[in-house]
Amino acid sequence: MNRSSRPAPLDATAASRAARFPTDSAMTARFLSDLAGACPGVAVSDEARIEAGRDWWPLSTVWAQYGQVPALPGAVCRPGSPGEVAAVLALCASAGVPVTAFAGASGVCGGSLPVHGGVSVDMTGLDGVIAVDPDSLLVEVRAGTFGPDLEAALRAEGLTLGHWPQSFDLSTVGGWLACRSAGQYSTRYGKIEDMVQGLEVATTRQGLIRTGGTAPRSATGPDLNQLFVGSEGTLGLITSATLRVHPAPATDMRAAYGFDSFGSGLDACRRVLRRGATPAVLRLYDRAESDRQFAVTGQALLIVVDEADPALVRAVMAVVDEEARAGGATPLDPGLADTWLERRNHLPPVADLVAGGLVVDTVEVAGRWSELADLYEDAVTALRDLDGTIAASAHQSHAYPDGACLYFTFAGRRSQPGPGAAESYYRQAFDAVTAATTAHRGAISHHHGIGLNRARYLPAALGPAFAVLQAVKDGLDPDGVLNPGKLGMADRFGTVSVP
Ligand SMILES: Cc1cc2nc3c(=O)[nH]c(=O)nc-3n(C[C@H](O)[C@H](O)[C@H](O)COP(=O)(O)OP(=O)(O)OC[C@H]3O[C@@H](n4cnc5c(N)ncnc54)[C@H](O)[C@@H]3O)c2cc1C
Repeated sequence: MNRSSRPAPLDATAASRAARFPTDSAMTARFLSDLAGACPGVAVSDEARIEAGRDWWPLSTVWAQYGQVPALPGAVCRPGSPGEVAAVLALCASAGVPVTAFAGASGVCGGSLPVHGGVSVDMTGLDGVIAVDPDSLLVEVRAGTFGPDLEAALRAEGLTLGHWPQSFDLSTVGGWLACRSAGQYSTRYGKIEDMVQGLEVATTRQGLIRTGGTAPRSATGPDLNQLFVGSEGTLGLITSATLRVHPAPATDMRAAYGFDSFGSGLDACRRVLRRGATPAVLRLYDRAESDRQFAVTGQALLIVVDEADPALVRAVMAVVDEEARAGGATPLDPGLADTWLERRNHLPPVADLVAGGLVVDTVEVAGRWSELADLYEDAVTALRDLDGTIAASAHQSHAYPDGACLYFTFAGRRSQPGPGAAESYYRQAFDAVTAATTAHRGAISHHHGIGLNRARYLPAALGPAFAVLQAVKDGLDPDGVLNPGKLGMADRFGTVSVP
């Protein structure tokens, strides 16, 4: 994978004239000069602005087909130090200019799109490991560090972070934290919010602040780390993080099972977690995906991988085996787990599918075990009932003692050419899964986040607590310049009409 890749090619000349979210992105010479003073290396070329104006939101691939870039900033800067990030934020706040961070740009919800123009801040200049404390199993790392670089530095010390999002090669520490990312091994190692011990954050009014980072646990008021984790660049920009790491695994084991139904497989997963076993990977595919991805027909395929100390792995795999058999599963060739491992980071051919007239995406949600099977049935049925749907399926991708993530995939055929019909189908698909999730008391996102795509749902999803989020935003970013238009919060620059 190429770290700076985007899902579809885009002609720079055409795209610079056609933004899907048009805005007046012109900046005064005076502001650009002040910006260059705060952060050397400001770029205003069409190429730089276009690359900052798009991410992996699958709708961008539809727009790219028509020569449209999602959004265009007025300028792009690439700070090389936390102080430069803080200086850019202070400048934008005092000038009332929108300021939006991007890093790997692998986000799939439009979170890094500068929908009101302004300054795009490329966080990948803040790169590299600052310190490793192998006794305490901690690493301090700059926010713009990509997955492979961090993991290579840790492996050299006999350690691992254990965070393996499918976008591992494309994404950064800061992006993971900003979006509450989940790696494929999360059942053993946790999500990124479980890994964070401390943060350094640049804010618009308080400059650089540090949260946590001193001790394994504390009772020093609310956990301010978690205020910024998941805030998607709307409250402050993360410049570095202290993360919990693990000894590199001494061994791994793999297994595969086939269940009569997705529901019986879910129940076995529930019982595995309930007994305290935490296999790194416990992934259950519905019949459609088992067939499509693994040529396993008429069964729901469970892929199991664990890695850790050998005694732990043996115990965990024994629990999985007992519960799978108790659920009526047939043991299948463990080579299926090898197949999954080989293919797990393959990029989806979104551009090819869109070129073929399809609209495709995935929707990841979370629910408690007592609702999960019904949530699955209702969401898949709602997707299949939409005009144009040709495929709707799901797998359970991350499991916990109290519930799990369901990862839906949909594909629909556009009723007519042009972006309008694609946007309409796409919106209906997200509405369908979100409504089913809400009806079953689930979380409308498990790890992709909110960004622009789900902004319309967040006020209702949080209920009265949404006012608390807005109050925090108003306190930390009183000028309202940080990533405006996202998370459904008040937007001083106007309303963005999202497809
Ligand atoms: C093929 C593919 C597979 C994926 N698989 C997974 C997966 O398995 N698990 C998963 O969790 N996600 C996955 N994603 C989604 C995406 O990779 C994650 O959301 C990732 O965390 C984004 O990181 P990034 O560096 O690319 O951030 P960007 O896309 O550049 O930014 C995402 C958001 O974070 C903000 N941001 C970025 N850096 C900072 C910072 N330093 N401080 C504050 N805010 C910041 C941006 O403003 C934006 O709102 C996948 C994406 C793709 C394309």
